[in-house]
Amino acid sequence: MNKTKKLLSDKNYREKNREKINANARQNYWSNRESELERRKKYRETHREQENAYARRYKANSLERKLRHSKRESVRQKLKRGTMKRTPCHLCDSTENLEFHHTNYERNEGVFVCHDCHVLIERQKLTY
Ligand SMILES: [Zn+2]
Ligand SMILES: [Zn+2]
Repeated sequence: MNKTKKLLSDKNYREKNREKINANARQNYWSNRESELERRKKYRETHREQENAYARRYKANSLERKLRHSKRESVRQKLKRGTMKRTPCHLCDSTENLEFHHTNYERNEGVFVCHDCHVLIERQKLTY
């Protein structure tokens, strides 16, 4: 077979195949149309539910994040102004790498702990 002929026959093969594939897909689509539409509808519905749930969670989380950020910021300001003093770690009495751990963000309550203890608290392996 010479080059041109081979190219042509490849092309023909692909085209024939494409026709066949398309025809199959069309046939499948029409024969499964009802169930396919139903499936898509269901998918959209569950998907929408998920997205709504995600949006609600995201909103709640971002409010929570804002609150936490502003409370942490207020602690930082108080420390800077000297109206609040660092105390040794609530758990191990260390005086290094102290951080404020909020026990109640709403009321801006918490304890000073060192970084190591703080990590453990946040992983909930320890209670303060
Ligand atoms: Zn904390
Ligand atoms: Zn500690």
